[in-house]
Amino acid sequence: MDLWFSEGKHQSVDFSIKVNQQLYSQKSAFQQIDIFESDVFGRFLSLDGEVMMTEKDEFIYHEMMVHVPMSVHPDVKTVLVIGGGDGGVVRELVKYNSIALIDVVEIDELVVRACEAFLPATAASFQDARVHLTFQDGLRFIRPLYDRYDLIIVDGTDPNGLGEVLFTKEFYGNCYKALRPEGILINQHESPFYQQDAIAVQKIHRKLTASFPISLVYQAHVPSYPSGHWLFGFSSKRYHPLADFKDSEGADRQLATRYYNRPLHKGAFALPTYVKELLDYV
Ligand code: SAM
Repeated sequence: MDLWFSEGKHQSVDFSIKVNQQLYSQKSAFQQIDIFESDVFGRFLSLDGEVMMTEKDEFIYHEMMVHVPMSVHPDVKTVLVIGGGDGGVVRELVKYNSIALIDVVEIDELVVRACEAFLPATAASFQDARVHLTFQDGLRFIRPLYDRYDLIIVDGTDPNGLGEVLFTKEFYGNCYKALRPEGILINQHESPFYQQDAIAVQKIHRKLTASFPISLVYQAHVPSYPSGHWLFGFSSKRYHPLADFKDSEGADRQLATRYYNRPLHKGAFALPTYVKELLDYV
């Protein structure tokens, strides 16, 4: 009998992947962690029944989280990653020799250990000497910090349950405070397509624009995420993602990327009209 993984997240639409086998299943103190193997998406991680990353398309999401801000800020030395237990964001960050420190704050140690064991191509870089792992809630970690990071990347779960605190005004205010005067905050910004997600997108954007002088949204196509149309937030104290884009020395010249390139950097900020309306741009 065929075995299918189904998200069943949207009441009338389902996303299912035919799986060959289940490689890992464990309930941690925080969530249900599962890793499956499939023909089309390769191995994939789900938390509480929702797909977090697949071997087939994780490069799209992780490259867009990292190379967009790294191609704008001229001198990133210190980075904080919140969430990101699969290691994909860290793998992209360690490509930059100029980065001196990468703090990773993941609430659930078991996610990191499971990904190291079963998704080694994604979780390959936790051993880099610049990476410091702390297992704690991201909001609690950031509350006491001032003027510490050039870049913060929030790669948490959706705005319900565990990840909810990472979408609050209090959290964004703390990110602002923990960033240096030229710092940039990148966060996963959900999908604009289905109505229940679109409401979340609008709320997130309003909180970010209230917290940062520059706050824009960019997009990418991530097939394994709900609707496949995914948004990212670019919030910044000083640098504009297009006006300050280091076009002539783009990351694709120096780094091996499969999705990110310089024309795409600019195009990613050109949003469809219905998304602009959602974000109060027009
Ligand atoms: N990009 C994925 C997505 O949107 O589907 C999420 C990636 S997954 C690696 C997100 C990670 O955030 C999980 O490992 C989870 O344990 C962690 N996380 C959730 N809430 C957190 C919190 N409050 N503080 C720190 N990490 C958190």
